[in-house]
Amino acid sequence: MGGYRGRFAPSPTGPLHAGSLVAALASWLDARAHGGQWLVRIEDVDGPRCPPGMAELILGQLDALGLQPDEPPVRQSHSGDLYQAALDRLIASGHAYGCACTRAEIAAAAGPRAKHGELVYPGTCRKGTNGRPVRAWRFRVEGHVDWLDRRLGAQSQDLETEVGDFVLKRADGLWAYQLAVVVDDADQGITDIVRGEDLADNTPRQIALQRALGLPTPRYLHTPLVLAEDGHKLSKQNGAAALDLRDPAARLREAAHRLGMRLPQGPLGVEDVLAGVVSRWEALVRDSAGQR
Ligand code: GLU
Repeated sequence: MGGYRGRFAPSPTGPLHAGSLVAALASWLDARAHGGQWLVRIEDVDGPRCPPGMAELILGQLDALGLQPDEPPVRQSHSGDLYQAALDRLIASGHAYGCACTRAEIAAAAGPRAKHGELVYPGTCRKGTNGRPVRAWRFRVEGHVDWLDRRLGAQSQDLETEVGDFVLKRADGLWAYQLAVVVDDADQGITDIVRGEDLADNTPRQIALQRALGLPTPRYLHTPLVLAEDGHKLSKQNGAAALDLRDPAARLREAAHRLGMRLPQGPLGVEDVLAGVVSRWEALVRDSAGQR
């Protein structure tokens, strides 16, 4: 088996909270259980939403939790040349095209909303912009993508009807998450993506991009979400508190519990909790390999 390389890829829009810690811990555990490498990538591609110093704060939180990356963290804000090269290839191969439509035009022409709330782009500029200046660059989707998640099982999404031609480079010049994440995962040789289930419906778009760029598709595992009391996804908007790291071992225990792993009661330090959950995760990985 080739060397396992996993990653945790936080957007530094706010500090880690109970939900993002579950994704961080699961990705770290899976890398350790496979004897692999674990990287941290700071997804600061949407610069205006990332307060100064937030990336350092997150790295400090991970450190206090005993989750140290095996390589120095990279930042998406330093990778614009890689994204441009990928976009150029997609344009040259006919997979990407320039779009002149404004938001208002799309809203007026669009059909039903996609499941994730964005409008399905009606494809107005697929055949050209009729001389109008290009605002954004879009990926031309085709058909559906079937994929396998290690926890959720067989998945399928019809990109044409459920998502539509999605943006790769925005009208404000910022790179879209979908392109940046695919380029970076390939550039860093990531073999396994372990992240929160809220990102599962992005996966088919990312697989379509990998195929168009001739890149390998990693294995995927989407972890259960931590819900706020009102049943919504935990986020800064609904009051997800930054982790209280006066007792990091307790926070790790809570995150492990949310992943279905209980540790014996008693005073355990960070290292003991991590060692305990690695051996439990290894057993889970062995069991699921045995079932295949
Ligand atoms: N940066 C994304 C987030 O914080 C995660 C990206 C990923 O794991 O693919 O939601």
